Amino acid sequence: MYIKSIIFGIITQLRSIFITLKHAFQDRETILYPENSIYLAPRYRGRIVLTKDPDGNNRCVACNLCSVVCPVSCISLQKTQDQSGRWFPKFFKINFSRCIFCGLCEEACPTTAIQLTPDFELSDFNRQDLVYNKKNLSISGTGKYHNYNFYQQSGVFITKRKKNNIHATPINIKDLLP
Ligand code: SF4
Ligand code: SF4
Repeated sequence: MYIKSIIFGIITQLRSIFITLKHAFQDRETILYPENSIYLAPRYRGRIVLTKDPDGNNRCVACNLCSVVCPVSCISLQKTQDQSGRWFPKFFKINFSRCIFCGLCEEACPTTAIQLTPDFELSDFNRQDLVYNKKNLSISGTGKYHNYNFYQQSGVFITKRKKNNIHATPINIKDLLP
């Protein structure tokens, strides 16, 4: 039994040396950063931005869905509205020191306002500086969804429309069944 343990120990040691030598001649997994750029997958989820409609208006309608769905509660906002009745966030903040970049907020957003980008360089010396407000988050473009305009899809409240003034004939939904 004693001899058997010694032989087993020698074999495992030789195996460890062999594996170590084998890896010594393979390509390194570790790269120097930031000297060398790293590969990011096309759908890598990083820094969050607030995008705009193709017509330049803010997409966010302060519906609060992103805040509700966020598993770490790092989104806070408050709704207000302009004179035309359009909702928008009075303030909108994301605490990036808590965000885990899960992407659930982007999935929940009905207007495609909130989007994750491949930017991952968010570190800072002051934790409070990682709380981004609306100005820090807003970009001037449409992000990934160039033609989507929530207000054109959903419509807005029309105050002057007459009661029962329906332009389209109601459809029988059973006609849509396969
Ligand atoms: S990516 Fe996830 S953790 Fe970060 S704000 Fe969105 S829902 Fe919250
Ligand atoms: S970012 Fe999207 S989900 Fe969040 S409040 Fe604005 S419209 Fe709603």
